[in-house]
Amino acid sequence: MLPKFSYVRPDKLAQAVKHLETDKAVIHAGGTDLLGCLRERIMDGDLLVSLGGLKGLAGIKETADGGLSIGALTTITEVSENRLVRDKYPGLAQGAAEVASPQLRNQGTLGGNLCQKPRCWYFRGEFHCLRKGGGLCFAIKGENQFHAIFGHDKICAITHPSDTAPVLVALNASVDVVGPAVNRSIAVEDLHVPPAEDVRAETVLKRGEIITRITIPAPAPNLYSSYRKIRARRSWDFALAGAALAFAMDGDRVSRANVVLSGAAPVPWRSTAMEEVLSGSTLTAETIFRAARAAVAEARPLAGNQYKVEMFRGMLEEELRKVGKGGEV
Ligand SMILES: Cc1cc2nc3c(=O)[nH]c(=O)nc-3n(C[C@H](O)[C@H](O)[C@H](O)COP(=O)(O)OP(=O)(O)OC[C@H]3O[C@@H](n4cnc5c(N)ncnc54)[C@H](O)[C@@H]3O)c2cc1C
Ligand code: SF4
Repeated sequence: MLPKFSYVRPDKLAQAVKHLETDKAVIHAGGTDLLGCLRERIMDGDLLVSLGGLKGLAGIKETADGGLSIGALTTITEVSENRLVRDKYPGLAQGAAEVASPQLRNQGTLGGNLCQKPRCWYFRGEFHCLRKGGGLCFAIKGENQFHAIFGHDKICAITHPSDTAPVLVALNASVDVVGPAVNRSIAVEDLHVPPAEDVRAETVLKRGEIITRITIPAPAPNLYSSYRKIRARRSWDFALAGAALAFAMDGDRVSRANVVLSGAAPVPWRSTAMEEVLSGSTLTAETIFRAARAAVAEARPLAGNQYKVEMFRGMLEEELRKVGKGGEV
């Protein structure tokens, strides 16, 4: 059952920030994750501050340098269908189209997608695990077939749930943040918190801080971008293994490669080992073979998720074979 709460819908950003100074005030965007978190008592909130009245936070526009500025309140459906997004960053349109179901994409927002809570079954269930302030991660030695193979440090093995965050990291995007103290800009790569830094935090946002816009720099010349997601079910489901690619191409040579994995780690996981093999190389069969192996060389699977290592390796090989071939292997 949902706890009792009050609801405000300010039409000025400054009013929203002021409301968020109240103890137990929480940001409400589309509410698709928030309401579940309140119902499951994994978040505490008795004042919902809706961003729905802040018209300036919705919509997609081109920036002066040819990049895009996407309001945090823009729905996931809009991101997946927008002509500018599809033309400039097909990988982001693909990532957004992979989120949940049509109903959730119509209601859920890009800002909320970046800030959602993880989906570990212990965390969402009645287990007082480390991330909830308890003393133990139940997944490390328990049921961990859907959990992380990188970056868990045997502390917390959630996989970051967002399908848009890995693409935004690969595209070097940043978020504009408005808050009670200062307004700031944060690279999406620095937005999420690894368990070794703070196992209870998902993002670096401080109390009362609101993401207002997501800015993506102008696409590099001949940018190739894509997002691939493998899931257990064909209907809505989170990534078992996924990859966002953003490559600056020079003919058939990759001049710069950004590779970010989903379903892999507690944060969108940058595969620097794979990027190093690819950057400056032509995508020959040998390079593809080496790059996919490099990506999984540092994996630290748990007892139940060793299958993910081969799954990532095979998927990455497939994705690399598509580059420059119009998306078809
Ligand atoms: C059944 C189901 C399946 C799903 N499957 C997927 C999936 O496959 N892939 C995927 O990526 N996601 C998936 N999701 C998550 C879904 O995409 C998110 O629930 C949605 O994007 C959150 O957007 P929202 O606007 O509803 O956020 P809300 O629920 O309103 O908020 C989510 C969190 O973000 C905070 N927040 C919201 N907006 C801001 C902002 N502008 N600034 C700061 N904090 C903010 C809120 O306080 C809250 O903590 C699924 C969700 C459900 C319920
Ligand atoms: S993986 Fe993280 S969220 Fe899941 S039980 Fe362990 S500490 Fe809790």
